[in-house]
Amino acid sequence: MPDRCPSGFDDRLLSGYLDGELTQGDEQRVSVHLQNCPHCKELFDDLERNREATMSTRFTPPPDIQWDELPRSGGSSLLRRLGWWLVIPWLVLVTGYGLWETWRGVHGAFDRILTFGGIAALVLLFLSVLFDRLRDAKTDRYREVKR
Ligand SMILES: [Zn+2]
Repeated sequence: MPDRCPSGFDDRLLSGYLDGELTQGDEQRVSVHLQNCPHCKELFDDLERNREATMSTRFTPPPDIQWDELPRSGGSSLLRRLGWWLVIPWLVLVTGYGLWETWRGVHGAFDRILTFGGIAALVLLFLSVLFDRLRDAKTDRYREVKR
């Protein structure tokens, strides 16, 4: 691979193209050239990769404000995890009790279906939020390790 484009293409156009700063004509010229010139295509891919790397670094917030709502110490993180795992059996108990009470209070198959359909939907919604939250917590821990 030669250092310079075999057809003498100006590689400043490539970064301009990446930034979307070119005129429509230039843009077209670059895009056509990229399709025909493996040298510039490779250069462009490199630029793009670098750009993405810089972007993701740039958008990482500074550590001080990064995980403000995350527990600061291992202890509070443990407590929080414990809290989440206590919530689940508590929720099951309360829901079970509530369902039982409702079941006894509601008579007739139609009323029961009506009532329990709604409750089941709410429970499912809540569970989906809960699972999302638990998954997020895992991701957060992963980020913490990475940091
Ligand atoms: Zn070229």
